[in-house]
Amino acid sequence: MDSDNEKDIDVDSGSVADSDQSDMSFFDFDDNEEGNIVPDSENEQETDPIQDNGPLTFLSDKQKGLNIAYEDIVSVASGRHCYRHICNNFKAQFPGILLSNLFWRAAKSFDVAGHNATMTSIKDLNIEAWKYLDKIPKPTWRRYTFNTGLKCDHVTNNCTESFNAWIGELRGEPILTLVDGPRKKFMKKMHKRYQKGCMLTSAVTPKMVGKLQRIGQASRQCELTMVSDDVFEVGDMNRSYIVNLAAKSCDCGALQISGLPCKHAALGIISKRQKLESYCEHWFSRDMYLKIYASMIHPTPDEKM
Ligand SMILES: [Zn+2]
Repeated sequence: MDSDNEKDIDVDSGSVADSDQSDMSFFDFDDNEEGNIVPDSENEQETDPIQDNGPLTFLSDKQKGLNIAYEDIVSVASGRHCYRHICNNFKAQFPGILLSNLFWRAAKSFDVAGHNATMTSIKDLNIEAWKYLDKIPKPTWRRYTFNTGLKCDHVTNNCTESFNAWIGELRGEPILTLVDGPRKKFMKKMHKRYQKGCMLTSAVTPKMVGKLQRIGQASRQCELTMVSDDVFEVGDMNRSYIVNLAAKSCDCGALQISGLPCKHAALGIISKRQKLESYCEHWFSRDMYLKIYASMIHPTPDEKM
């Protein structure tokens, strides 16, 4: 979980929170086998993102020098810092559950209006805390600034911790064992997931099925006004949002950034008696899942052979 108070539904945005996004990562190494991929491009063709200067994103714990390296080698790459890491630093200087909650709300807002409203609340509460956050470069911790072409709203670096936990005691082994151990684990994992993918009956991965169900349930809190078949205005709390299904956009920003219907879009889709999964980006599809895990890691002969 990203924060103390994080729930499945990001109330402000209408999107499902990142706790689930982390679960859908390709680097989901725990026992849950319902992983998905983190897309790095709209382009389905096989490419070398570094050579092609494709839209790579580096998500780090703010290690010094890392941004200099990737900005030099991959000039178009974007950088994100782990929100949990930023939050821990923030909490160390400005303790308190309320400020922490406001931090998460501001950081994870998919739209600038929601972000600014929360930042104003922080400013009213503690001006020094506001100054601290305001100094952090925007693209690294404000989700509304994310590249909408990536279709990934992931904001924490927990895949690293997940990987470390997954390889377990192998980390302390000599280099050859350290290399060979994960190779075998990857072989097993890839094949297991491919087999699982072959048995999927839904158009999207099981994680996404669950996520879409929760989005659909959350959409019931909203009020729909149809404007045309694809355009509608949705009231949610004290705000209204314009959804354009044909353009795959909603004023809340979640649809464009995550690649999944937000609850506002979901309300319109459901009212049209269509399936939410029909409006998910192909990155979350069963076909893409299979494509990822169809690749085989070949066995290697024993060194004594
Ligand atoms: Zn929306």
